[in-house]
Amino acid sequence: MKLDVNVLRYLSKDDFRVLTAVEMGMRNHEIVPSELVDRIASLKHGGTYKVLKNLLKHKLVHHDSSKYDGFRLTYLGYDFLAIKTMVNRGVFTAVGRQIGVGKESDIFEVAKEDGSILAIKLHRLGRTSFRAVKSKRDYLRHRRSFNWLYLSRLAALKEFSFMKALEEHGFPVPNAVECNRHCVVMSLIHGYPLVQVRELQSPEVVFERILGLIVRLAEHGLIHCDFNEFNIMIDDEEKVTMIDFPQMVSVSHRNAQMYFDRDVDCILKFFSKRFNLSLEEQIDNTDNSEEDSEGSSRPCFSSISKSVGFLDRELAASGFTRKEQDDMDKFVKEEKDQDQCSEDEEDSAGMDETIVRDVVSLHLLDQPGHTVEGNEEEIKENRQSCEGQLSEPCCEAHFNEDESEENVNDTELVKSLNKQRRRAIAAAHRGGKTIASRNSYKDKGGRSSHNSKIQKQLGSW
Ligand code: ADP
Ligand code: MG
Repeated sequence: MKLDVNVLRYLSKDDFRVLTAVEMGMRNHEIVPSELVDRIASLKHGGTYKVLKNLLKHKLVHHDSSKYDGFRLTYLGYDFLAIKTMVNRGVFTAVGRQIGVGKESDIFEVAKEDGSILAIKLHRLGRTSFRAVKSKRDYLRHRRSFNWLYLSRLAALKEFSFMKALEEHGFPVPNAVECNRHCVVMSLIHGYPLVQVRELQSPEVVFERILGLIVRLAEHGLIHCDFNEFNIMIDDEEKVTMIDFPQMVSVSHRNAQMYFDRDVDCILKFFSKRFNLSLEEQIDNTDNSEEDSEGSSRPCFSSISKSVGFLDRELAASGFTRKEQDDMDKFVKEEKDQDQCSEDEEDSAGMDETIVRDVVSLHLLDQPGHTVEGNEEEIKENRQSCEGQLSEPCCEAHFNEDESEENVNDTELVKSLNKQRRRAIAAAHRGGKTIASRNSYKDKGGRSSHNSKIQKQLGSW
């Protein structure tokens, strides 16, 4: 699926009203009947069907007439609602190029009015989770209460609250700026994912720093659960930043020890292989808490003094209900069980490590007459949508649609993004063994000339 923000220029107030109506209808309908969309939108001068046709043309909604005639929001439609809300709130004014693609997210640069650059992460749960979908179907069957948009929103909210809390506790994480729907706005990290780094001045120091983070997290009552070379950014000064938090669990989780040891093993294996540190005897040796002659040792879960409750407190503070937390946990459990850290480096070959920071200013101006308050009202209402109101999704349809939406723009960059996304998806289909492409950092520096082609100047709304 391509995020073509250019379309935003052409969307009217009525378009957004109808799009919001579809979103609201999805609280209790998998497919929202057209009449219901019409009723919720209650356009002054009618014309809902014409608007729906336009939204369909831009792939913001998906039409389904298999059971009855109706529509549902696509991820692109959801993206637009989130982006518009952020722009109306003045969080950013322009969307730039895509800088990252994760297994279940897309990351873009955005620009603020003053020209400074932030990053947005659009969560896309369900994009790659075929196996998860299959097993979750059994679970979902009993609870007509899930859809991927809902799960993506939960993932974003969880990630946002953790980023905020971890930053407040002095952890090196991006600055959490804002969250809406499935979108998290954060500071842009000026570095590269560790997976792309071939040489370090002091690998031992970086290694210790990273292991220290795992231990400190546990002391705060948390386990990252996906702590690996894809989720650690490193800058030119070899400063480490950790990212990607939706799957974090508490140290009181029944599998806490296993997740902790797995995080540690990922780092040990990576540093042993990539930087030739002699850590072999520590790998998979979870009993080894004795210090070796150089003073380094494998951290031992049971000997860390842990403060339990951090996770619950932080989530409660963010408005995350216990039910939402359970929903999220059930979903990510499957993901975690499937994930393994990567020992495979080949797929990062050829990727560029340069961040090209030339986001063209793409101004999103509030349309005169479009009341932010009205929109906020709708959003507030939407936010209240409890999981019990959401219906079971058609997961594969989401996925297939994403594939078919790969309306390839003929630029090298777009091709390469699509290729990397397909590889990430293929990797997830193949099984638990992840490859470097699952979180790919994009772009050759020399390709920056292509960027302008995917950056769209947005007119006023
Ligand atoms: P996922 O949850 O899908 O794995 P991540 O949060 O790990 O997504 O992000 C995917 C990739 O996007 C990262 O590997 C990194 O290259 C890039 N990225 C994510 N957040 C930022 C950020 N704040 N600044 C710069 N790049 C980022
Ligand atoms: Mg990641």
